[in-house]
Amino acid sequence: MQIADHAVVSFHYTLTDDHGQVIDSSEGREPLTYLQGSGQIVPGLESAMAGHQAGDKFNVDVKPEEGYGVHHPELVQQVPRAAFQGVADIQPGMQFQGNGPQGVINVTVTKLEGDQVHIDGNHPLAGQTLHFAIEITEVREASAEELAHGHVHGPGGHDH
Ligand code: ZN
Repeated sequence: MQIADHAVVSFHYTLTDDHGQVIDSSEGREPLTYLQGSGQIVPGLESAMAGHQAGDKFNVDVKPEEGYGVHHPELVQQVPRAAFQGVADIQPGMQFQGNGPQGVINVTVTKLEGDQVHIDGNHPLAGQTLHFAIEITEVREASAEELAHGHVHGPGGHDH
C-alpha cells in the first residue's frame, strides 16, 4: 500500500548536513516506526513520505522551515555564571531547561568566557537543511486503537 494519512510506516534513514557529515542514522538499529499524518516526524519529511511504499529508496532535502525551524538569534544569549546556582562545573555541551518566549525551552551551553556563560536555546539542527536518505521497510494500516491513541503500538511503538 502507498503511504497516506493513518498508515503505519517503518523506515531506515541517514541524515546528513550540507557538508555530507552524518548527523544521525538508523543503521544497525531497528527502523523508525511512526503514524503518518500525526506530526511525529519533521513536516518536510512527512510530506515527502506520502505516496511511497515498502521497498522505496529516495533522498529528500528538507528546508529549516519544514525541519527543526529557522535559527532565532534572540535565543543565543550570555548569562552570568551566578545564574547557574547549584551547578558546580558548567561545561560546553551541557543542557538546561530555561524559560523562553513560548514556554520552557532546552538551552545548550556553547561557550564559557570568564564569568559569562554563552547559551543557545535553538534546536541543535535549527537553521540547517536536512538531507535524508530514506528506505521504506514496511507500510501497513493503523488499527482503530492506534488511531484513537495517535501513536503506533507493537514493535517500534508503544508497549501498553
Ligand atoms: Zn496507545
